[in-house]
Amino acid sequence: MGRAFVYVILGGGVAAGYAALEFTRRGVSEGELCIISEEPVAPYERPALSKGFLLPEDPARLPSFHTCVGANDEKLTPKWYKEHGIELVLGTRVKSVDVRRKTLLSSTGETISYKFLIIATGARALKLEEFGVEGSDAENVCYLRDLSDANRLATAIQSSANGNAVVIGGGYIGMECAASLVINKINVTMVFPEAHCMARLFTPKIASLYEDYYRAKGVEFIKGTVLTSFEFDSDKKVTAVNLKNGNHLPADLVVVGIGIRPNTSLFEGQLTIEKGGIKVNSKMQSSDSSVYAIGDVATFPVKLFGEMRRLEHVDSARKSARHAVSAIMEPEKTGEFDYLPFFYSRVFAFSWQFYGDPVGEVVHFGEFEEGKTFGAYWIKKGHLVGSFLEGGTKEEYDTISKATQLKPAVTDLEELGRVGLGFAETVVSQHIVPEASRVVMVEKPLHVWHAATGVLVAASVAVFAFWYGRRRRRW
Ligand SMILES: Cc1cc2nc3c(=O)[nH]c(=O)nc-3n(C[C@H](O)[C@H](O)[C@H](O)COP(=O)(O)OP(=O)(O)OC[C@H]3O[C@@H](n4cnc5c(N)ncnc54)[C@H](O)[C@@H]3O)c2cc1C
Repeated sequence: MGRAFVYVILGGGVAAGYAALEFTRRGVSEGELCIISEEPVAPYERPALSKGFLLPEDPARLPSFHTCVGANDEKLTPKWYKEHGIELVLGTRVKSVDVRRKTLLSSTGETISYKFLIIATGARALKLEEFGVEGSDAENVCYLRDLSDANRLATAIQSSANGNAVVIGGGYIGMECAASLVINKINVTMVFPEAHCMARLFTPKIASLYEDYYRAKGVEFIKGTVLTSFEFDSDKKVTAVNLKNGNHLPADLVVVGIGIRPNTSLFEGQLTIEKGGIKVNSKMQSSDSSVYAIGDVATFPVKLFGEMRRLEHVDSARKSARHAVSAIMEPEKTGEFDYLPFFYSRVFAFSWQFYGDPVGEVVHFGEFEEGKTFGAYWIKKGHLVGSFLEGGTKEEYDTISKATQLKPAVTDLEELGRVGLGFAETVVSQHIVPEASRVVMVEKPLHVWHAATGVLVAASVAVFAFWYGRRRRRW
């Protein structure tokens, strides 16, 4: 038994949903596109699972967060796929792929052939067993990667009211889940090996502000250690966790967020793998010209850094998906993917965004207090390469994004800290360029800081007054 399509997307997550919308906008014909996914539901905005989905009241549920609502675009329900003649094969795992023959074999035994394949298999949550800890299949140990994990966690939260939860991992998933557990009136202890939370991005100063806030909400932090084993009751439910530092923590619920691993296994030995992902060029095309990769599974050239990177963020999944579809359907009109890494998080009343690369020297700015606007710039080799902002307005986030993309020169770090957000505003206001020409400015960084110093000194007082006086608006 077999079917043939012009385009097949393998995986039905964020990137697949955005790719489907782009295909329809570029005129895909009925019956040409197939999406095959292990998940039983149409593509959805995965970030909702650790945020609105876990709220105790009026939690987000499908169909409210199908792609592409996260980008304020159309909501693609199963009906939408039907109306657009897109074959949505759900609840079906692909067991093997033959890149040379251009075929996929599904778990139901069906062979699907393609002219173009887009790999959008994303990633899986790392399991504790991979670090030598047994028993994480217990019913009150939860991971969070897909909808079934989220349903399981939501049920476990309900049965743990006023109880104790241990959150293993201090990254995105750990921080967002801990906040959700607190909102659900569960006592939380966070355990992670690093010196502070969000260690891959946050500076100690940024981390300490969020950690203090979490502490004020009752969260306890145990840092610099890891989980070594679980204790179970006769029903094989976890009752406590043991840590390497000797601590013993009673637990009604354990949430594990210790990282992810891209789903590349179907392609190992068939396509080039780099930095753990499927290596693609600036058109998202892999080492086989008929196969493209997008989202978390793709390692692509980030022009701004002159390096191959694999990113694990929703914005990159959305944009790489659109770019790949454009490259497939209109190759002559599609340029190189010129992507500025962007990620964000929302916990409690906090909301931050980050653009670029958190490397080099750090300069903090603003008022480091809950409810205020503050941030940090990262400066490498004399140029701005990364910007973080908490509590900004939509316009302010837009400004730091544009300024980071311009990679302006910075010579006076002290002054940068004093001027803060005003620096990005000056950079952008003095270099208003059409989208398309931004690339040129990035490749030939402008020595904005030198040129603008006089202006900045004169303008900084006014900028500060304006900045601090502005009412914050959350997006
Ligand atoms: C809980 C949570 C919260 C997040 N919050 C944020 C956030 O706040 N900000 C941010 O920037 N990013 C966030 N992310 C990351 C973001 O969701 C991912 O970067 C994004 O989902 C990647 O999209 P993707 O399409 O590449 O992969 P995914 O969305 O993971 O989709 C992969 C799909 O492929 C399917 N699949 C895999 N293998 C097979 C196979 N062999 N056969 C069939 N189907 C297969 C999977 O079942 C899945 O449907 C979050 C992630 C999670 C899990």
